[in-house]
Amino acid sequence: MTLLSQRILNMEESATLAMAAKARELKAQGIEVISLSLGEPDFLTPDHIREAGEQAIREGKWFTYPPVAGYPDLREAIAQKLVKENNIPSKAENIVVSAGAKQSIANVMMCLLNPGDEVVVFSPFWVSYAEIIKLAEGIPVFIHAGVEQGYKATSEQLKSAISTKTKAVIFSSPCNPTGAVFSEEELRAVADVVAQHPDVYIIADEIYEHINFTGKHFSIGSIPSVQSRVITVNGFSKGFAMTGWRVGYISAPKDVAKACEKIQGQFTSGICSIAQRAAFTAISSDLTASKQMAETYLRRKKLVMDLLAEIPGLKMNDPQGAFYAFPDVSHYFGKKYAGGSIDNADDLAMYFLNEGHVSTVTGAAFGAPECIRISFAAADQDLVEALKRIKELLVNLS
Ligand code: PMP
Ligand code: GLU
Repeated sequence: MTLLSQRILNMEESATLAMAAKARELKAQGIEVISLSLGEPDFLTPDHIREAGEQAIREGKWFTYPPVAGYPDLREAIAQKLVKENNIPSKAENIVVSAGAKQSIANVMMCLLNPGDEVVVFSPFWVSYAEIIKLAEGIPVFIHAGVEQGYKATSEQLKSAISTKTKAVIFSSPCNPTGAVFSEEELRAVADVVAQHPDVYIIADEIYEHINFTGKHFSIGSIPSVQSRVITVNGFSKGFAMTGWRVGYISAPKDVAKACEKIQGQFTSGICSIAQRAAFTAISSDLTASKQMAETYLRRKKLVMDLLAEIPGLKMNDPQGAFYAFPDVSHYFGKKYAGGSIDNADDLAMYFLNEGHVSTVTGAAFGAPECIRISFAAADQDLVEALKRIKELLVNLS
């Protein structure tokens, strides 16, 4: 018997965090696990940003409750960045700073959805979208694209999925888990569809903006026909290696921003003041450190893709951003090893973890049960060793 609410009983645990916890458990037992599960930069937060955090502590004037939506100078700096770099006409009043982009997305869903409202989710999708939508009593409607489509659902699929109940459309580009990047042309086609539906918002998750190997990032929020209904989500976790600082933000129409501020005011208040000061420095400084990290991810991507290409039976896209490889591993379903059989990607992820001590994440968590997600935000030697083990484990299946 449980007295817990139906709301929480209906919710799936975050598969990325669950897999990371399993890897930590094995590590605590003294087993050397190579962790390629959690999508987390393996770099330290750049020096100038850390120093800003230290300085804020020393200054001793940032220890009281910060304003709920973020310090005015941080909101202003974010708005200016969006205008300058993304061509999104944003002002400080459009910005709400939250405890990570995860909270930003949760705020938005809680503020937009009435029970039964639908949100079209480009699939494969980031794990938490579906659960957050359901928590807000909405219904996720998936438009799926497999590897043969480069994991990119089309504007035609979007058009057929939109109904009178649709309240929003959500996608990430660069995409977690596939690394797919929607081109300007593809985003314009998405905008053209949504422009026909004046009650539908676009939630554009651009948290991997700075890890984009195509050389340019295009924001759908720059397209005038839909601009007033685009909510751009971004944050500092990935591009600035600041996952633990917990800083994310939205740029949203003023009423949506106000609503998000209101809900945050009841749930959590303004986020950690020191983290905000560090984020202010991050966004006000040049992007040299972010660019260097992105170059390293690109080099590692090539390393991982070359090693994956040596494994028979995998089907892959070429990730154009983020730091994940997302091979279709369905060729191996139905095969056996001494300890059991591989019926799906969950089994395969557990096989890699238990027999090879490599943690990955099942594609099922991202709406693609035929795939496995492998993060390449890890040291080169770990990637080489992990891929060697993965190859052996797969080749040994019969
Ligand atoms: N969106 C995507 C696509 C992500 O991969 C993540 C995971 N970092 C988030 C949002 C949330 O990031 P955070 O809460 O760390 O800002
Ligand atoms: N977003 C990262 C991932 O997908 C971090 C974990 C999480 O927030 O779910 O692995």
